[in-house]
Amino acid sequence: MAEEALRECEEKYRMLLDEVQDYAIFMLDPQGMVVSWNAGAERIKGYRGEQIIGHNFSCFFPVEDIKRGRPEEILRMATASGRHEYQGMRVRKDGSRFLAHIVFIALRDPTGNLRGFSEISRDLSETKESGEKYRGLLEAAPDAMVVVNQSGEIVLLNLQAEKQFGYHRDELVGQKVKNIIPEGFAERLLADGLRSAEDALAQQMGTGIELTGRRKNGSDFPIEIMLSPLESAEGILVTAAIRDISVRKRSEEHLVKTVGELKRSNDELQQFAYVASHDLQEPLRMVASYTQLLAKRYKGRLDSDADEFIAYAVDGSTRMQGLIQDLLAYSRAGTVGTPLREISSENALKEALTNLRATIEESDAVVTHDSLPAITTDGMQLAQVFQNLVGNAIKYRSAKVPNVHVSAAKNGGNEWIFSVRDNGLGIDPQYFERIFVLFQRLHGRETFKGTGIGLAICKKMLERLGGRIWVESQPEKGSTFYFALPERDAK
Ligand code: ADP
Repeated sequence: MAEEALRECEEKYRMLLDEVQDYAIFMLDPQGMVVSWNAGAERIKGYRGEQIIGHNFSCFFPVEDIKRGRPEEILRMATASGRHEYQGMRVRKDGSRFLAHIVFIALRDPTGNLRGFSEISRDLSETKESGEKYRGLLEAAPDAMVVVNQSGEIVLLNLQAEKQFGYHRDELVGQKVKNIIPEGFAERLLADGLRSAEDALAQQMGTGIELTGRRKNGSDFPIEIMLSPLESAEGILVTAAIRDISVRKRSEEHLVKTVGELKRSNDELQQFAYVASHDLQEPLRMVASYTQLLAKRYKGRLDSDADEFIAYAVDGSTRMQGLIQDLLAYSRAGTVGTPLREISSENALKEALTNLRATIEESDAVVTHDSLPAITTDGMQLAQVFQNLVGNAIKYRSAKVPNVHVSAAKNGGNEWIFSVRDNGLGIDPQYFERIFVLFQRLHGRETFKGTGIGLAICKKMLERLGGRIWVESQPEKGSTFYFALPERDAK
C-alpha cells in the first residue's frame, strides 16, 4: 500500500510539473544527461521529451560557452554548493538564442550520494519588462535600439539595429555588445572602484555619446548613442538608442572644408586688392603728374576744347588716386594693425581731431565729447574710426553750424558703446545697412566728394577688433553712429 501510495504521489507530482508551461523543469543525471522533461521545457526549448532524453544538457548552451567548458563548470558549482543560480544565454532546438534565468539544484540520496540535478529555467525575453509590449515599443523607434545587461550582453534589439549592423537578430542576442560597438560602450556599463553601477550610468544617461559602430562585414561607421536605464526583475538593463551619424559627419566635414576654401579665396582676394591698388599707384602717379604738367604748360596755348579735355583728365586722375589710396587703406584695415594694448580712447579722438583740424576750422564745426574710457584695443585704428565718423559728421552737414558730440557708455554686457552724434543731413532708414558697404554712397560726387569707402573701412576695422557698427538717424534730424568694442584684459 505504501509503495502504491508513493507511486501515486510521484505520478501526481509528474503531472503537476507537466502542467507548468512557464518554466522548463527537468532532471539531469550526474553526468548531465537529460532524464526527464516537462511541457514548459518542450515549449521553451523546442525539443519533445523523446528527442532530448538521454542527450547531454550542454546542447542548450551557445557554442562559445561549450568551448569554455561552461556546462561542466556549472555542474561542478551546483555539486559544490547544492544550488547554482545564474542568468545566461540559452539555445533553442532551432538554433535561436534567448536569455534565461536558471537554477540548478543538486539531488542527493539520504546517504549523501549525488543522484543528479534538477534544472528550473525561465525565458526572460518572455517576462513582462522585456515582453511583447516593450518589443513593440522598440520596433516603433526610428533609431537602432539595443538592450544590454550589466555584463555587456545584448538582450534585445529592434529591426533598425539588425539593419544598421547587418546582422540577423539571433546572431546578436546573447553576444557581447563589444562586437558591434568595440569601444566605449561596455566600459560605460561597468562600475569602477569609485562609483556604483547606478552612478556610472546616471552620468551617461540622456547625453549623446559619439562612438564607432562595427557592422558584421567589419566596416565601421560613426554613431551617437543615448543610454537609458531599465529596471527589470533581472537587475538594471540599459537601453541604447543608436543613431548612424555618417551623413551628419560628412556634412560637418564638408562645411569645415567649404569654410576653409572660402577663407582661402577671401584671403586671396584681399591679397589681390592690396597688390592691385599698391601696384596701380605708381603708373597712376605718372599719369597724374604728366596731365598736371600738360595743364600747367599748355593752358591757353591750344584751343578751349583742349583746355577742357586736359582739365577732365587731371580731375579723373586725381580722383582715381584718392580711390586707390582708400582701397589700399581698406585692404589693410582687416589685416595690418598694431597689437592690442590698453590705450586712452580720448587720446585716439584727439589724434583724429588734430588730423581734421583744417576741416573743422573751415566749417566752424563744434566738436565736443564726454570723458572717454581707457580700453584695450588698437589705438591707431580707433583713431581712424573716429576720424572717418567725425569727418562724415562734418561733411554731411545741413545748413546749420555742424555740431558733433562723442560719448561712450558701458552696456549690460562687457562692451563699450561709443557714439558720434551730429546735427547734419540725416539718413533715410532704408539706407542704414547700405552705407557700410564698399563704394555705396547716398550723394553724388558733385554734391559731396568721396569714394564710399570710409564706413566700409570702419566696419572692417571694428570687426577685426571684435566690435560692430550701426547707425540711428532720421532725415534732417541728424545721425548718431554707434560702435561697440569688447572690454578685454590687456595682454
Ligand atoms: P564717403 O563719405 O566717401 O561717401 P562713407 O563710406 O564714409 O563714404 O559714407 C557712405 C555714405 O554714407 C556717404 O556717401 C553718405 O551718403 C552717408 N553718410 C555717412 N556719414 C553720414 C552722416 N554723418 N550723415 C549723413 N550721411 C552720412
